[in-house]
This record gives sequence, structure tokens and C-alpha cells, in this order.
Amino acid sequence: MIIPETPLENLLRVGKATAKKLQNLGLRTAEDLLFYFPFRYEDWSKILPISQLIYGTAGTCRGRVELIKNTRSFHKRKNITEALVSDNSGSIKVVWFNQPFLTKILKVGDEIFLSGKVDFDRFGIHLTSPSYEKIGVSGETTHTARIVPVYRTTENLTNKQIRFLVKLVAPLALKAEDWLPAEIQKDFSLIDLNKALRQIHFPENVNLVKAARHRLKFNELFLIQLRNLLLKNNLQKSTAPMVSFREEETKKFTAALPFKLTDGQRQSAWEIIGDLAAGKPMNRLLEGDVGSGKTMVAAIAILNVFLNGYRTILMASTEILAKQHFNTFCKLFSNLKIGLVTRSEKKINNNELEKNNDTEFIINNSDLIVGTHALIQDNIKINKLGLAVVDEQHRFGVKQRQALKGDKESPHFLSMTATPIPRTMSLVFYGDLDISVIKELPAGRKKIITKVVSPEKRNAAYEFIRKEIKSGRQGFVICPLIDQSDKLGVKSAKEEYKKLSQEIFPELKIGLLHGKMKSEDKEETMRNFLENKINILVSTSVVEVGVDVPNATIMMIEGAERFGLAQLHQFRGRVGRLNFQSYCFLFSDSDGEEVAKRLMIMTTCNDGFALAEKDLEFRGPGEVWGVRQSGIPDLQIATLTDYAIIKEAKSAAKNLIKKDPDLVEYPDLRDKLGNFLEKVHLE
Ligand code: ADP
Ligand code: MG
Repeated sequence: MIIPETPLENLLRVGKATAKKLQNLGLRTAEDLLFYFPFRYEDWSKILPISQLIYGTAGTCRGRVELIKNTRSFHKRKNITEALVSDNSGSIKVVWFNQPFLTKILKVGDEIFLSGKVDFDRFGIHLTSPSYEKIGVSGETTHTARIVPVYRTTENLTNKQIRFLVKLVAPLALKAEDWLPAEIQKDFSLIDLNKALRQIHFPENVNLVKAARHRLKFNELFLIQLRNLLLKNNLQKSTAPMVSFREEETKKFTAALPFKLTDGQRQSAWEIIGDLAAGKPMNRLLEGDVGSGKTMVAAIAILNVFLNGYRTILMASTEILAKQHFNTFCKLFSNLKIGLVTRSEKKINNNELEKNNDTEFIINNSDLIVGTHALIQDNIKINKLGLAVVDEQHRFGVKQRQALKGDKESPHFLSMTATPIPRTMSLVFYGDLDISVIKELPAGRKKIITKVVSPEKRNAAYEFIRKEIKSGRQGFVICPLIDQSDKLGVKSAKEEYKKLSQEIFPELKIGLLHGKMKSEDKEETMRNFLENKINILVSTSVVEVGVDVPNATIMMIEGAERFGLAQLHQFRGRVGRLNFQSYCFLFSDSDGEEVAKRLMIMTTCNDGFALAEKDLEFRGPGEVWGVRQSGIPDLQIATLTDYAIIKEAKSAAKNLIKKDPDLVEYPDLRDKLGNFLEKVHLE
């Protein structure tokens, strides 16, 4: 008997090789397969008398095999199987190529269904390579004479095989636990889960396909919304330090800056100040392009937290970045005690401390502590923590929040990211967060000149780069992940490094940065680059080169077609900090028109949000920069264009939580949410 946990290799006709292919599709158990939905359907449900099959159309007929034999086409060296099939209305010739085994499967006298294209040659009409299926006792079909599901597949695994296996596991649909509350199903006219799972694979008609898809999309979107709301509600239940707005000091601080804040900075700072004063933990994401000045917005928050007698911790993704932030804040706030805690350096301001190994001492004797994520892994108790900031991360994880929570109060949370998140995406995935956006860059920045470099122009581009480097500037080279086996892009970066240092720029100092390096070595390389001891830094896309290197003016991106536009935009933002003119060169291995069209957008568009929207259009949400890394669940069947269902799911989740915040009345739903709920309630 098949149960949900049955491994696929235990199913009929699944050998080791097939199991491996299924695994490539992420399918291991019977349940995985049950939840592996078709991405489209072919409607072969209309059965025509053979005499009514018309050339140029596609049709299904039902007939008797009168003749079947293999022949060989002489000059094409193809094996051809020819058959004659007839019903009461007439006969038709059927042709298959290179499937000689068919004569073993289909015998004279067999009743079969055929679905396929009606062709024409000098002998008259015939069916070319139709799907075929013998008519069994039940009369039920899988591959023909119905609406036939089409699944995404992988090399050497046919849809016919997948359908056969799905059919085997389909009875599980009847036992699937329907965790969606009955009243929600009723309110939104949803069909039940068992029916949806059956119909999604082997639908009886087009309307039931629609109903099944609706229900399964709803499932997915509803769970995401529910999780978001539970997180949000839970945070709202706790209290946070009341940080009142110190208007006078804040004005004094901004007036002393050598520049005026942009409107986006002002607006974002204002939203944050409002949150801080509300007595509930802020949970806000600050979005703005690289260079838009997010640090300054954080600084205003930090200042107010300090003036109210609380401390802030700020976490960066690398030591170098932490050090840069530390230096920035030391200059900005001469009257604050600022701690630095990284693996290699621990201090307060620039004083070497006696207790400089004592992280806890530094933390609880500083007003602002800057460090890497290691800061909160030590389970150190942070007294009077008012605000926690993470740089280049989309949100605090549940675990991070737990680690930072005090006995009575929770601190305020601010995450900062350069990822532009399209609106529909934030609606679905970021419902637990409030979002502030800095739309503009500070005035006076030079526009980065972006070029798509064709293979013939590659050498010219290298010459140009050589000239820039000779005049003292520096450059980045970003390498793509080339194949599955090279998950971190290490191979491609190493090859590029070799090519550049040996063949192209033997006279220059080239550096290499990739994720397999020890973190000390990474930091060392970045430091050398920062100090202009390296002219060109070759890096994988996986390594976040979030360091501010104002002297770098050149960004070269290899295999640019492999990246999303928003991601390219973020790489590009790494140059153009000083008054030098900066350049971004996009190299592509593909000469496809579609690729060129997509990349050309980069040469004219400088708006991260617009580019992210384009990515959604071209490649779907998984490709928008950062999504993969940010723990967003992959959507299986729903898409971000399912506006109506997104809205329905959101309102359903909202109403449910309002009525029963702890889901006491909904044990099946609680089960479905599983340990997610436990984690939330621990907070
Ligand atoms: P990011 O948003 O990428 O973190 P930063 O906060 O590092 O950007 O700011 C980039 C640079 O711009 C810094 O050198 C900062 O001092 C400067 N800057 C910030 N705000 C402004 C402004 N309003 N006008 C001019 N320069 C600014
Ligand atoms: Mg920054």
C-alpha cells in the first residue's frame, strides 16, 4: 500500500535511475509527487469519428488496430512504425518514429485511443506520433482522450512516466487532511482539498481545473499570510522601550551634516521615529539603493535611542563592513561610547581596553555596539537594549529576535537592504514588516555609464579598463555560477582570476574572493582592495562585496545574462561613490536577441524598482535579487500576479486571527503550521 511517506523508488517501475531523475525534480516521496502540480494541460477530451479528423488540426479518435509493422526509411535511417486504425466511420494511417517497441505493445485487434496531430502526405491524411493508450476495462484514460496534465520534467524522463506515477499515488488525494477551516472554504467558494488534488492532476473538465488551481493557490498564499500575521501579532503583544522624539537635538545633528538629507531619508527617518515612540516593538525594513544613504537614517534612530537612555546594536555581514560602520559612527557621534566587536578586534572608541576580550563588558559599556552577526550568538545579555539594526538583510529571523529579547521588553528592529522589492512581492512575503523606501540617490552623483559588451568589443573594453586602472582607479569583476556542480561559483571565479592575471592584465595586481575561502582570508583580501593594493578584484556573486570602496570606478560582470536586472543594478551600485565617472560593463556569452533586449534595459534604466518589476515579468519572483537568500518560500503554484487570490487569502487570514488568535479551534491548521507556531510563541 502506498502511504504519503513511501519513497518513490518503491513504486512500480521506478528503478534507481528513474528515482534519481525524480530527485532532480525535488521528488522523493509519494506525497511529493501528489503535490507536484502540472504547469499546463492539453485538452484531448473531444473524441472524433476517424472520418472527421481534419488535416492541420489535432484530434483524438478511438479505433481498432488493423495492421501494425516496423519499417526502415532508407535514406533517413529512421525506424518507422506504421499502423492502420479504424472505427465505424473510416480508417487512418498512423506513423511513429524510432519507437520500434510499439509493435510489442500494440497488437492487431487492440482497441486504442490516439491523440495527436493530423498530417497530410501524398497518400492522404495520417496521424504523426500521436499519444496512444489501450482502452482498459474501466474505460478510464491517463494520456489521451481527456484533459491531459503536462508536468515540468527533466532529461530522459517523459511526461508519460510522470503521469503513470502520479496515477499510482493519486489515491492519496482522498486521504489528504483538509486543514483549511470550513467557513473559509465556504466564504471563498473553494472546493475541498481532496477534490482539488485529484482534479489538479486528472481533471474532469476545464472548470474543475480552474477550481482546483484556485484552491491550491489559495492554500499557499493563505499559509504565508497567516504566518506573517502571527509574527506581527505576536510582536504587537510585547512592549518595547518608549523612545520619544528629541526634536531639538535631532535638528542640531542633521544641520551639522555636510549635506542636506534627501526627501526619502527624511520621510523614512520620520516613520522610524514614529515607531520608536509607540511603545510596541518596531519591525521595519528600510529599502534604498546602494549609496542612497540608509546609514544616516539609522543614525537618526540611534541618536534618539541614545538620548532616551537606551543602547543600540548594529550588525553587519562582514568584519570590514562592521569596521566601516564603526568608523563612520565614531566620526558622526563624538559624544557616544561606541563599541566594536568582531573576531579580530574588540574595543570601545579608539581605546585599547584592559578588558578588550570581554565582549559582554564592551556591550554593556557602550551606547552603540557595532559588530558582525556573531554579536548575538554568544547569548550575552544586553542591558537596556533599545534598538537592533541589521545591515543588508531583509529581516530579523525569529531566532535572532528571541536572542535579543529582554526579560520584559523587546527591542525595536530595523533591517536595511539595497534590494528593491516590488509591491506585490512585499504584499505576499513581507506582510509582517512595515517598509520605508528611499527612492532617490543624494543629488550630484554622476550617472554610471553602462555598456553591454559584445564579444568583438571585449578587447577594446579591456584596453579601456587598463587605462582607468593606470590612472589610479580600481575595478570589480563579478562571475556567475556556471553550472550546478559549481554551487558557489568558485570554479568560474578561479578561472576568471587565472585568465585576467596571466593573460589579460599580467602587469596588474588581481585579487580573488570566493565563498570557500576562510573568513580571515576574505577579510584580508577586502582590506587589500580597500587600500588599493589590489587593482582588480574578481569575486563570485555569492560573496557580498558590500564594502564601500570609493576609489572603484569599474564594475565588470561576466555572464551577465545569468543575473536578474535588479541584481545587476545592485552590483553596479558598488561603483560611482566619488566624483570620478564610473562604468559598468556587462559581458554576455549569449548572443540571443531576448538576452540582448533584457540587458539593454540596464543601459537606460537606473531605477531599482523598475528593474525588479522587469525581472518579475521576465523571469519570475525566484530571480529577483536576494529572494533565494532571504528565506522566502518558493511559490509552487501561486504567482505574484494572482492579485485577487492574494487579497482573498489576506482577508481570510486576518479574519481568522481576529476571531481566534491562537487558532485554538483549528487543530488541523495548527498541525499544518507545525513548529512554526512553537517558535513564534517562544518569542
Ligand atoms: P547605503 O544606503 O548604501 O548604506 P550609505 O549610508 O553608505 O549608503 O551612504 C553612502 C554615502 O552617501 C556616504 O558617504 C554618506 O555619507 C553619503 N550621504 C548620505 N546621505 C547623503 C545626502 N543626503 N547627501 C549627500 N551624501 C549623502
Ligand atoms: Mg550601507
